[in-house]
Amino acid sequence: SFSKRVTLLGSTGSIGTQALDVIRSQPGKFTVTALSAHSNAELLIQQAQEFRPAAVVIGDDAKYATVKAALASQPETEVLAGAAALADVAGRDDADVVLTAMVGYAGLLPTVRAIRAGKTIALANKETLVVAGQLITELVKDHGVGLYPVDSEHSAIFQCLVGEEQNPIEKIILTASGGPFRGRTREQLAQVTKAQALKHPNWDMGAKITIDSASLMNKGLEVIEAKWLFGLRNDQIDVVVHPQSIIHSLVQFEDGSLKAQLGLPDMKLPIQYALGYPQRLANTFPRFSFLDYPQLTFEQADTSAFRNLALAFEAMGRAGNAPCILNAANEIAVAAFLRDEIGFLQMSEVVETSLARVSYLAAPSLDDYVETDRETRRIAQELVGHS
Ligand code: NDP
Ligand code: MG
Repeated sequence: SFSKRVTLLGSTGSIGTQALDVIRSQPGKFTVTALSAHSNAELLIQQAQEFRPAAVVIGDDAKYATVKAALASQPETEVLAGAAALADVAGRDDADVVLTAMVGYAGLLPTVRAIRAGKTIALANKETLVVAGQLITELVKDHGVGLYPVDSEHSAIFQCLVGEEQNPIEKIILTASGGPFRGRTREQLAQVTKAQALKHPNWDMGAKITIDSASLMNKGLEVIEAKWLFGLRNDQIDVVVHPQSIIHSLVQFEDGSLKAQLGLPDMKLPIQYALGYPQRLANTFPRFSFLDYPQLTFEQADTSAFRNLALAFEAMGRAGNAPCILNAANEIAVAAFLRDEIGFLQMSEVVETSLARVSYLAAPSLDDYVETDRETRRIAQELVGHS
């Protein structure tokens, strides 16, 4: 019978809370071994009281005492704090699957630790594959672990590839909603506000990925994520804008046949698929109806207005530590945009200048990635006006 023990890193976020919804909706199928948050102690405590994991990690050391005190009457749950503890918990042997739902570069070291410990990875944290795709892919192979995507586009492709192990891929087509600013010119993009950028038409997500979706950096990160997940050459990855977000992505085989996966834009399905793989678990999530979507439309992505998508393809072409630079500079730029310190178009300027300034490494080690991330953050902080 089906039963999996899940460690959920980033349990207080958009993916994290939806993953707990999935687990709740499948009684008896999953147990929770560990949970983590960065600073939302209140929600972490509530989750710990409901799911009674063996460990919880709060990233922010200053909140340790609060969490510890609230869980004093629950001795089966160990309380830990800080980034090193997060990586330790990711590698503990009491879990079958580690769902990486933290945001950003912070996912890299815990994911490495989980793979080295032989855990199956359900990967939401795409930044890890962008920063160090080659290294992660090699580690996954060396340790013989499964790495299953949560990202809806990659889940779609993964589902299309089941049963096709003998058949080479000709290309993949990643669909993009186009975000709230689809169709805008550069002049118009110069004027958009944070509040407008935070209103995604189809998906309700964390702030960082919502801004990335508005700037098309999210699609750029997903292109690089797909390269490593599916072992593709750069010229095998296409992007098409599909504003309804119903076709989640497509694979084209060498006979020209295209396979797609469709569904409502709801992350619960790809989360459940990654946690349940290879099993599909019955559920009562809302079903798609063509009558609600009489028109599915497609258009080309505008990479001259949305420079980030072009920059991501360029960074992928340069390889080495270039995608790591792209990612770190983007994290700093998005944070500055969310603090109203830079405009929408300046985000891609920060990324482009960082790519030109940070020292290039063709074959980085794990330590080199850590150093590239640090150096890029320093330079990007200067560019956004913090020295
Ligand atoms: P959120 O911002 O909603 O949640 C992020 C989670 O990570 C929270 O639990 C947060 O804790 C924690 N966190 C934040 N900073 C750190 C840090 N430095 N170290 C450790 N943990 C940290 O993000 P999302 O859930 O939207 O996204 C999570 C990941 O999933 C991202 O990589 C995103 O690209 C990917 N993804 C998300 C989708 C979505 O629909 N949301 C779709 C596809 C992919 P706290 O709450 O305490 O701040
Ligand atoms: Mg996606």
